[in-house]
Amino acid sequence: MTDSITIDLYSDTVTKPTLAMRRYMCDAEVGDEQLGEDPTVNRLQEMVAELLGKEAALFLPSGTMCNQAAYAVHCQPGDEIIMDRTAHPLHFEGGGPTTLRGILVQPVDGDHGIFTAEQVREALHTRSRYQPRSKLISIEQTANLGGGRCWPLETIREVCDVAHSNGLATHMDGARLLNAVVATGIPAREYARSFDSLWLDLSKGLGAPVGGVLAGSESFIREAWRYKQLLGGSMRQAGIIAAAGIYALEHHVERMAEDHENAKLLAQGLAQLPGVRVNPNEVETNIVIFDVAETGLSGEQFARQMIREHGVRFSQFSLMGPAIIRGITHLGITREDITTALRATEQIVRSASLQAVG
Ligand SMILES: *Cc1c(COP(=O)(O)O)cnc(C)c1O
Repeated sequence: MTDSITIDLYSDTVTKPTLAMRRYMCDAEVGDEQLGEDPTVNRLQEMVAELLGKEAALFLPSGTMCNQAAYAVHCQPGDEIIMDRTAHPLHFEGGGPTTLRGILVQPVDGDHGIFTAEQVREALHTRSRYQPRSKLISIEQTANLGGGRCWPLETIREVCDVAHSNGLATHMDGARLLNAVVATGIPAREYARSFDSLWLDLSKGLGAPVGGVLAGSESFIREAWRYKQLLGGSMRQAGIIAAAGIYALEHHVERMAEDHENAKLLAQGLAQLPGVRVNPNEVETNIVIFDVAETGLSGEQFARQMIREHGVRFSQFSLMGPAIIRGITHLGITREDITTALRATEQIVRSASLQAVG
Protein backbone atom coordinates (compact mmCIF):
# COMPACT_ATOMS: atom_id res chain seq x y z
CA MET A 1 0.00 0.00 0.00
CA THR A 2 1.21 3.46 -0.81
CA ASP A 3 -0.32 6.91 -0.69
CA SER A 4 2.08 8.83 -2.84
CA ILE A 5 2.48 8.85 -6.60
CA THR A 6 5.81 7.39 -7.67
CA ILE A 7 5.16 6.95 -11.39
CA ASP A 8 3.13 9.76 -12.86
CA LEU A 9 1.66 9.04 -16.30
CA TYR A 10 -1.16 11.54 -15.73
CA SER A 11 0.16 14.02 -18.28
CA ASP A 12 3.37 15.55 -19.61
CA THR A 13 2.36 18.63 -17.62
CA VAL A 14 3.72 16.99 -14.46
CA THR A 15 7.34 17.38 -15.59
CA LYS A 16 9.53 19.37 -13.24
CA PRO A 17 12.43 21.59 -14.30
CA THR A 18 15.71 19.72 -14.13
CA LEU A 19 18.62 21.02 -12.08
CA ALA A 20 20.42 22.12 -15.26
CA MET A 21 17.31 24.01 -16.38
CA ARG A 22 16.98 25.71 -13.00
CA ARG A 23 20.64 26.79 -13.14
CA TYR A 24 20.12 28.21 -16.61
CA MET A 25 17.07 30.12 -15.36
CA CYS A 26 19.14 31.55 -12.52
CA ASP A 27 21.55 33.19 -14.91
CA ALA A 28 18.95 34.71 -17.23
CA GLU A 29 19.26 38.38 -18.12
CA VAL A 30 15.95 40.10 -17.49
CA GLY A 31 14.08 43.34 -18.08
CA ASP A 32 10.50 44.61 -18.25
CA GLU A 33 8.93 42.35 -20.84
CA GLN A 34 5.78 44.46 -21.08
CA LEU A 35 8.01 47.20 -22.45
CA GLY A 36 9.70 44.73 -24.78
CA GLU A 37 12.88 45.08 -22.72
CA ASP A 38 13.46 41.54 -21.49
CA PRO A 39 16.33 40.17 -23.60
CA THR A 40 15.64 36.55 -22.66
CA VAL A 41 11.97 36.77 -23.58
CA ASN A 42 12.92 38.48 -26.84
CA ARG A 43 15.41 35.74 -27.61
CA LEU A 44 12.87 32.98 -26.92
CA GLN A 45 10.36 34.70 -29.22
CA GLU A 46 12.95 34.99 -31.99
CA MET A 47 13.90 31.33 -31.59
CA VAL A 48 10.29 30.17 -31.92
CA ALA A 49 9.52 32.50 -34.84
CA GLU A 50 12.57 31.08 -36.60
CA LEU A 51 11.72 27.47 -35.74
CA LEU A 52 8.18 27.89 -37.08
CA GLY A 53 9.11 30.04 -40.08
CA LYS A 54 6.89 32.94 -38.99
CA GLU A 55 7.61 36.69 -38.87
CA ALA A 56 7.05 37.11 -35.15
CA ALA A 57 6.21 35.34 -31.90
CA LEU A 58 4.81 36.19 -28.48
CA PHE A 59 5.56 34.61 -25.10
CA LEU A 60 2.42 33.94 -23.07
CA PRO A 61 1.94 32.39 -19.62
CA SER A 62 0.04 29.35 -20.93
CA GLY A 63 -1.06 27.42 -23.96
CA THR A 64 -4.64 28.24 -23.08
CA MET A 65 -3.87 31.93 -23.43
CA CYS A 66 -2.18 31.25 -26.79
CA ASN A 67 -5.41 29.69 -28.08
CA GLN A 68 -7.67 32.38 -26.61
CA ALA A 69 -5.56 35.32 -27.79
CA ALA A 70 -5.35 33.83 -31.29
CA TYR A 71 -9.09 33.18 -31.45
CA ALA A 72 -9.78 36.73 -30.28
CA VAL A 73 -7.61 38.14 -33.06
CA HIS A 74 -9.10 35.97 -35.80
CA CYS A 75 -12.80 36.16 -34.81
CA GLN A 76 -15.49 38.69 -33.96
CA PRO A 77 -18.48 37.96 -31.70
CA GLY A 78 -20.91 35.74 -33.62
CA ASP A 79 -18.15 34.13 -35.66
CA GLU A 80 -17.55 30.43 -35.50
CA ILE A 81 -14.49 28.19 -35.15
CA ILE A 82 -14.48 24.70 -36.67
CA MET A 83 -12.53 22.19 -34.60
CA ASP A 84 -12.59 18.51 -33.69
CA ARG A 85 -15.13 17.27 -31.16
CA THR A 86 -12.30 16.26 -28.80
CA ALA A 87 -10.34 19.53 -29.08
CA HIS A 88 -8.80 21.05 -25.95
CA PRO A 89 -10.41 24.53 -26.28
CA LEU A 90 -13.84 22.91 -26.40
CA HIS A 91 -13.45 20.92 -23.16
CA PHE A 92 -10.64 22.26 -21.03
CA GLU A 93 -10.47 26.03 -21.44
CA GLY A 94 -13.47 27.08 -19.39
CA GLY A 95 -15.62 27.89 -22.40
CA GLY A 96 -13.10 30.61 -23.34
CA PRO A 97 -14.08 31.29 -26.95
CA THR A 98 -17.70 31.98 -25.95
CA THR A 99 -17.05 33.62 -22.62
CA LEU A 100 -14.28 35.96 -23.65
CA ARG A 101 -15.34 36.90 -27.11
CA GLY A 102 -18.80 35.54 -28.01
CA ILE A 103 -17.32 33.06 -30.47
CA LEU A 104 -19.16 29.82 -31.28
CA VAL A 105 -17.46 26.50 -31.79
CA GLN A 106 -18.70 24.01 -34.34
CA PRO A 107 -17.36 20.56 -33.46
CA VAL A 108 -16.72 18.02 -36.21
CA ASP A 109 -16.32 14.27 -35.79
CA GLY A 110 -12.76 13.53 -36.74
CA ASP A 111 -11.01 10.18 -36.65
CA HIS A 112 -8.72 10.23 -33.59
CA GLY A 113 -8.97 14.01 -33.55
CA ILE A 114 -8.17 14.39 -37.24
CA PHE A 115 -10.82 15.62 -39.67
CA THR A 116 -10.82 15.95 -43.44
CA ALA A 117 -11.19 18.73 -46.00
CA GLU A 118 -14.52 17.19 -46.97
CA GLN A 119 -15.77 17.52 -43.39
CA VAL A 120 -14.69 21.16 -43.37
CA ARG A 121 -16.58 21.77 -46.63
CA GLU A 122 -19.71 20.28 -45.08
CA ALA A 123 -19.34 22.30 -41.88
CA LEU A 124 -18.73 25.68 -43.52
CA HIS A 125 -21.16 28.50 -42.86
CA THR A 126 -20.12 31.39 -45.04
CA ARG A 127 -23.08 32.61 -47.00
CA SER A 128 -26.37 32.51 -45.12
CA ARG A 129 -27.29 35.46 -42.93
CA TYR A 130 -29.11 33.00 -40.66
CA GLN A 131 -25.97 31.24 -39.58
CA PRO A 132 -22.95 32.20 -37.52
CA ARG A 133 -20.06 32.93 -39.83
CA SER A 134 -17.27 30.35 -40.05
CA LYS A 135 -14.08 32.31 -39.55
CA LEU A 136 -11.39 29.91 -38.39
CA ILE A 137 -10.25 26.29 -38.53
CA SER A 138 -8.38 25.12 -35.43
CA ILE A 139 -6.48 21.85 -35.41
CA GLU A 140 -4.48 20.13 -32.67
CA GLN A 141 -1.01 18.73 -33.35
CA THR A 142 -0.69 16.13 -31.95
CA ALA A 143 -4.32 15.26 -31.29
CA ASN A 144 -4.40 14.84 -27.52
CA LEU A 145 -7.61 12.87 -26.99
CA GLY A 146 -6.97 11.28 -30.38
CA GLY A 147 -4.17 9.34 -28.65
CA GLY A 148 -1.33 11.64 -29.69
CA ARG A 149 -1.86 11.01 -33.36
CA CYS A 150 0.02 13.23 -35.82
CA TRP A 151 -1.95 15.17 -38.42
CA PRO A 152 -0.43 14.15 -41.77
CA LEU A 153 1.03 17.05 -43.76
CA GLU A 154 -1.20 16.22 -46.71
CA THR A 155 -4.38 16.40 -44.61
CA ILE A 156 -3.21 19.69 -43.10
CA ARG A 157 -2.67 21.17 -46.57
CA GLU A 158 -6.07 20.00 -47.83
CA VAL A 159 -7.93 21.28 -44.76
CA CYS A 160 -6.11 24.63 -44.81
CA ASP A 161 -6.68 25.02 -48.57
CA VAL A 162 -10.42 24.64 -48.12
CA ALA A 163 -10.31 27.11 -45.24
CA HIS A 164 -8.30 29.74 -47.10
CA SER A 165 -10.25 29.45 -50.34
CA ASN A 166 -13.42 30.14 -48.35
CA GLY A 167 -11.98 33.14 -46.55
CA LEU A 168 -11.29 31.42 -43.22
CA ALA A 169 -8.07 31.71 -41.24
CA THR A 170 -6.18 28.68 -39.92
CA HIS A 171 -4.78 28.03 -36.44
CA MET A 172 -2.74 25.18 -34.99
CA ASP A 173 -2.87 24.32 -31.31
CA GLY A 174 0.66 22.98 -31.32
CA ALA A 175 0.82 22.02 -27.64
CA ARG A 176 2.69 18.88 -28.77
CA LEU A 177 3.81 19.93 -32.26
CA LEU A 178 7.41 19.05 -31.44
CA ASN A 179 6.37 15.50 -30.54
CA ALA A 180 5.04 15.22 -34.09
CA VAL A 181 8.28 16.69 -35.46
CA VAL A 182 10.39 14.17 -33.54
CA ALA A 183 8.11 11.26 -34.47
CA THR A 184 7.86 11.99 -38.20
CA GLY A 185 11.08 13.87 -38.96
CA ILE A 186 9.02 16.57 -40.69
CA PRO A 187 10.43 20.02 -39.76
CA ALA A 188 8.25 22.26 -37.59
CA ARG A 189 8.18 24.97 -40.25
CA GLU A 190 6.77 22.51 -42.78
CA TYR A 191 3.89 21.74 -40.44
CA ALA A 192 3.55 25.47 -39.73
CA ARG A 193 3.46 26.67 -43.34
CA SER A 194 -0.30 26.40 -43.92
CA PHE A 195 -1.23 28.16 -40.69
CA ASP A 196 -1.91 31.84 -40.05
CA SER A 197 -1.14 31.27 -36.38
CA LEU A 198 0.22 28.49 -34.21
CA TRP A 199 1.90 27.95 -30.87
CA LEU A 200 4.11 25.58 -28.89
CA ASP A 201 3.67 24.63 -25.26
CA LEU A 202 6.86 24.86 -23.22
CA SER A 203 5.32 23.18 -20.17
CA LYS A 204 4.35 19.81 -21.69
CA GLY A 205 6.94 17.37 -23.03
CA LEU A 206 9.53 20.14 -23.25
CA GLY A 207 9.65 20.17 -19.48
CA ALA A 208 9.68 23.92 -18.75
CA PRO A 209 7.62 25.06 -15.76
CA VAL A 210 5.44 27.65 -17.55
CA GLY A 211 4.48 29.14 -20.84
CA GLY A 212 3.59 28.91 -24.47
CA VAL A 213 4.82 30.83 -27.51
CA LEU A 214 2.37 31.99 -30.16
CA ALA A 215 3.63 32.76 -33.68
CA GLY A 216 2.29 34.39 -36.84
CA SER A 217 2.72 37.45 -39.05
CA GLU A 218 3.94 40.80 -37.65
CA SER A 219 0.42 42.21 -37.82
CA PHE A 220 -1.13 39.13 -36.18
CA ILE A 221 1.34 39.32 -33.28
CA ARG A 222 0.75 43.07 -32.88
CA GLU A 223 -2.96 42.33 -32.40
CA ALA A 224 -2.23 39.32 -30.15
CA TRP A 225 -0.28 41.70 -27.87
CA ARG A 226 -3.54 43.57 -27.24
CA TYR A 227 -5.09 40.39 -25.85
CA LYS A 228 -1.97 39.46 -23.90
CA GLN A 229 -2.38 42.81 -22.16
CA LEU A 230 -6.16 42.50 -21.81
CA LEU A 231 -6.05 38.96 -20.41
CA GLY A 232 -3.39 39.88 -17.88
CA GLY A 233 -0.69 37.94 -19.67
CA SER A 234 1.80 40.79 -19.85
CA MET A 235 4.56 40.17 -17.36
CA ARG A 236 7.63 41.95 -16.03
CA GLN A 237 10.98 40.17 -15.54
CA ALA A 238 9.67 37.10 -17.34
CA GLY A 239 13.12 36.19 -18.66
CA ILE A 240 13.45 33.97 -15.58
CA ILE A 241 10.76 31.64 -16.95
CA ALA A 242 11.46 32.27 -20.65
CA ALA A 243 14.99 30.97 -20.00
CA ALA A 244 13.51 27.57 -19.17
CA GLY A 245 11.86 27.59 -22.60
CA ILE A 246 15.15 28.38 -24.32
CA TYR A 247 16.87 25.62 -22.37
CA ALA A 248 14.08 23.18 -23.27
CA LEU A 249 14.25 24.01 -26.99
CA GLU A 250 18.01 23.48 -26.90
CA HIS A 251 18.11 20.30 -24.80
CA HIS A 252 14.74 18.59 -24.57
CA VAL A 253 13.49 18.19 -28.12
CA GLU A 254 15.39 15.20 -29.50
CA ARG A 255 15.07 13.32 -26.24
CA MET A 256 11.31 13.11 -26.78
CA ALA A 257 12.09 10.10 -29.00
CA GLU A 258 12.66 8.21 -25.71
CA ASP A 259 9.18 9.20 -24.54
CA HIS A 260 7.76 7.82 -27.77
CA GLU A 261 9.65 4.54 -27.31
CA ASN A 262 8.40 4.29 -23.73
CA ALA A 263 4.82 4.94 -24.85
CA LYS A 264 5.16 2.17 -27.42
CA LEU A 265 6.53 -0.21 -24.76
CA LEU A 266 3.67 0.68 -22.46
CA ALA A 267 1.09 -0.03 -25.18
CA GLN A 268 2.76 -3.31 -26.16
CA GLY A 269 2.79 -4.45 -22.54
CA LEU A 270 -0.81 -3.41 -21.95
CA ALA A 271 -1.93 -5.27 -25.07
CA GLN A 272 -0.76 -8.53 -23.40
CA LEU A 273 -2.98 -8.05 -20.35
CA PRO A 274 -6.39 -9.69 -19.97
CA GLY A 275 -9.29 -7.27 -20.30
CA VAL A 276 -7.18 -4.38 -21.59
CA ARG A 277 -7.84 -3.15 -25.10
CA VAL A 278 -5.21 -1.12 -26.92
CA ASN A 279 -3.62 -1.17 -30.35
CA PRO A 280 0.13 -0.52 -30.01
CA ASN A 281 0.33 0.24 -33.74
CA GLU A 282 -1.80 3.31 -33.13
CA VAL A 283 0.74 4.83 -30.75
CA GLU A 284 2.67 7.47 -32.70
CA THR A 285 4.01 9.76 -29.98
CA ASN A 286 3.90 9.93 -26.16
CA ILE A 287 0.21 9.23 -25.54
CA VAL A 288 -1.39 5.82 -24.93
CA ILE A 289 -5.15 5.49 -24.70
CA PHE A 290 -6.61 2.17 -23.59
CA ASP A 291 -9.91 0.65 -22.53
CA VAL A 292 -10.31 -1.39 -19.34
CA ALA A 293 -14.06 -2.10 -19.69
CA GLU A 294 -13.54 -5.87 -20.04
CA THR A 295 -11.84 -6.06 -16.63
CA GLY A 296 -15.17 -5.13 -15.08
CA LEU A 297 -13.66 -1.97 -13.58
CA SER A 298 -14.78 1.51 -14.43
CA GLY A 299 -12.08 3.91 -15.55
CA GLU A 300 -12.38 5.73 -12.27
CA GLN A 301 -12.02 2.54 -10.18
CA PHE A 302 -9.00 1.45 -12.21
CA ALA A 303 -7.29 4.83 -11.93
CA ARG A 304 -8.00 5.09 -8.20
CA GLN A 305 -6.73 1.57 -7.44
CA MET A 306 -3.56 2.12 -9.46
CA ILE A 307 -2.72 5.16 -7.33
CA ARG A 308 -3.76 3.68 -3.99
CA GLU A 309 -2.15 0.29 -4.36
CA HIS A 310 0.83 1.03 -6.58
CA GLY A 311 1.50 4.77 -6.67
CA VAL A 312 1.01 4.79 -10.45
CA ARG A 313 -1.17 7.59 -11.80
CA PHE A 314 -3.01 7.50 -15.13
CA SER A 315 -5.74 9.92 -16.19
CA GLN A 316 -9.33 9.26 -16.99
CA PHE A 317 -11.86 11.52 -18.72
CA SER A 318 -15.50 10.55 -18.72
CA LEU A 319 -15.94 12.38 -22.01
CA MET A 320 -13.92 9.67 -23.74
CA GLY A 321 -15.95 6.79 -22.33
CA PRO A 322 -16.58 5.14 -18.94
CA ALA A 323 -13.50 2.90 -18.97
CA ILE A 324 -11.02 4.81 -21.11
CA ILE A 325 -7.63 5.52 -19.56
CA ARG A 326 -4.80 7.71 -20.81
CA GLY A 327 -1.11 7.41 -20.03
CA ILE A 328 1.45 10.00 -21.14
CA THR A 329 5.20 9.51 -21.08
CA HIS A 330 7.63 12.39 -20.50
CA LEU A 331 11.09 13.21 -19.25
CA GLY A 332 10.27 12.12 -15.71
CA ILE A 333 9.48 8.55 -16.85
CA THR A 334 12.15 5.93 -17.43
CA ARG A 335 12.02 2.58 -19.16
CA GLU A 336 12.06 0.87 -15.75
CA ASP A 337 9.06 2.97 -14.71
CA ILE A 338 7.17 1.51 -17.65
CA THR A 339 8.07 -2.04 -16.56
CA THR A 340 6.95 -1.25 -13.01
CA ALA A 341 3.71 0.39 -14.20
CA LEU A 342 2.95 -2.64 -16.36
CA ARG A 343 3.53 -5.04 -13.47
CA ALA A 344 1.19 -2.95 -11.32
CA THR A 345 -1.47 -2.84 -14.04
CA GLU A 346 -1.24 -6.61 -14.42
CA GLN A 347 -1.94 -7.11 -10.71
CA ILE A 348 -4.95 -4.81 -10.78
CA VAL A 349 -6.56 -6.32 -13.88
CA ARG A 350 -5.89 -9.92 -12.76
CA SER A 351 -7.43 -9.41 -9.36
CA ALA A 352 -10.38 -7.59 -10.98
CA SER A 353 -11.07 -10.52 -13.29
CA LEU A 354 -10.75 -13.00 -10.35
CA GLN A 355 -13.35 -10.99 -8.46
CA ALA A 356 -15.56 -10.91 -11.53
CA VAL A 357 -15.41 -14.75 -11.71
CA GLY A 358 -15.79 -15.29 -7.93
C1 LIG B 1 -2.20 21.47 -22.50
C2 LIG B 1 -2.91 21.80 -23.73
C3 LIG B 1 -3.39 23.09 -23.96
C4 LIG B 1 -3.30 24.19 -22.93
O1 LIG B 1 -2.01 24.48 -22.54
P1 LIG B 1 -1.70 25.04 -21.07
O2 LIG B 1 -0.27 25.45 -21.16
O3 LIG B 1 -1.97 23.91 -20.13
O4 LIG B 1 -2.62 26.19 -20.84
C5 LIG B 1 -4.02 23.34 -25.16
N1 LIG B 1 -4.15 22.38 -26.09
C6 LIG B 1 -3.69 21.13 -25.91
C7 LIG B 1 -3.86 20.13 -26.98
C8 LIG B 1 -3.07 20.79 -24.72
O5 LIG B 1 -2.64 19.54 -24.53
